[in-house]
Amino acid sequence: MRHYDVVVVGAGPAGSAAARHCAEQGLSTCLIEEHGTIGYPVQCAGLLSEAAFRECRVSRRSILHEVSGARIITAQGSELSFDAGRTRAFVADRAILDREMAMHAADAGADVRLKTAYSGRKGQAVRTRGVHGRGEIPFRVLIAADGPRSPVARSLGMPRPPIFLAGLQAEIIRHMDGSHVELYPDASPEFFGWVIPIGKGRARIGLAGTQDIPERFRMFCRGICDGGVIHLVSGTVPLGVMEKTYGHATLFVGDAAGFPKPTSGGGVYTGVRSAAHAAAVAGEACLRNDTTDAVLAGYEQRWKADFGRELEFGLRVYRLRQQLSPVDIDRLVRLLNDPGIIDDIRQFGDMDRPAAVIRHLLKNPKLFPVLGILLKGGVRQIIK
Ligand SMILES: Cc1cc2nc3c(=O)[nH]c(=O)nc-3n(C[C@H](O)[C@H](O)[C@H](O)COP(=O)(O)OP(=O)(O)OC[C@H]3O[C@@H](n4cnc5c(N)ncnc54)[C@H](O)[C@@H]3O)c2cc1C
Repeated sequence: MRHYDVVVVGAGPAGSAAARHCAEQGLSTCLIEEHGTIGYPVQCAGLLSEAAFRECRVSRRSILHEVSGARIITAQGSELSFDAGRTRAFVADRAILDREMAMHAADAGADVRLKTAYSGRKGQAVRTRGVHGRGEIPFRVLIAADGPRSPVARSLGMPRPPIFLAGLQAEIIRHMDGSHVELYPDASPEFFGWVIPIGKGRARIGLAGTQDIPERFRMFCRGICDGGVIHLVSGTVPLGVMEKTYGHATLFVGDAAGFPKPTSGGGVYTGVRSAAHAAAVAGEACLRNDTTDAVLAGYEQRWKADFGRELEFGLRVYRLRQQLSPVDIDRLVRLLNDPGIIDDIRQFGDMDRPAAVIRHLLKNPKLFPVLGILLKGGVRQIIK
């Protein structure tokens, strides 16, 4: 039985990135994935900022389309449109992206075992079940990249993220302005709906929220689709980071830790960045031959210094959003529809780190009426 320095559970973007980083440091690494094919089932809109795509360290093969701006459209008919004038994000084929990331992990020296599911822990070994029956893989550090439901976290009794959104998405025939993403805040009042062009007259339509998802989705599609709906996918988006992202010689990365951004639900950027931090700390733990919490705590310090404040801020915006009615949202959109403000959004907007542009906008005197709307939702907490 081979002993590994690191076993990574789950070959999504976070798991493959972690395995690649570990193997590149010379750690003996095993990446296990329960499915027989990496990248399936796809549970993602595939919208990645340029920075998120860069973090994945892959070729451009998975890019289906390029996006330079967005339109926010309310049920009352107000619109806010902005365009950066250059590509700011890519729409990726997640199946191709995930497969390429896992290939890079294998190329770096990680053993990739498909159809091998984590089924529990036995001390410093993971129990697996899969094509070769039941097995055990001993490790020094375990990286849990096993997605929103994280069987690893559950088996260890770790507290889970506080919020789970359900998402539903489909591909549709739709001829739209090819470079703009459309956002519909009223399609799902706790969150929003989206229509993302993927080129050749096709788009991805989806929404996420906490209730009535199939019914909302049906209504949303009815108002938008030119033709039929194909390739329906569902998924879960965890929001709010789990209480402690390390413990039991284990580091939790990506969706398993609750790292999607609460403002958008996007989790690839933070997932892949958390993987790099986890790999660095796993390397340190192996080098010092110490996998106690005293060393693993360094992981939490790293990701918090990187994007912790951004996630905290995002969660406050998410909670505020729960207080706003469709009328409030419509008013906000109309107030934001000002050339100077749109210019600020264009200049300071960052999909992965939206806190800066929101803070900047709230200082603009033209937006003081917005404060009235936000105050009732607890804005003081947002701009503190
Ligand atoms: C509808 C929807 C749309 C989204 N759109 C976007 C978007 O446009 N942009 C964006 O950035 N994010 C988006 N997200 C979020 C994004 O999909 C996730 O944040 C991202 O996939 C997280 O990567 P991960 O590697 O942490 O987890 P996952 O991609 O979930 O990978 C986890 C892996 O672990 C495997 N696994 C699970 N259990 C076991 C086990 N017991 N044993 C072995 N393997 C196991 C799974 O099979 C899977 O391969 C969307 C999510 C949803 C639901």
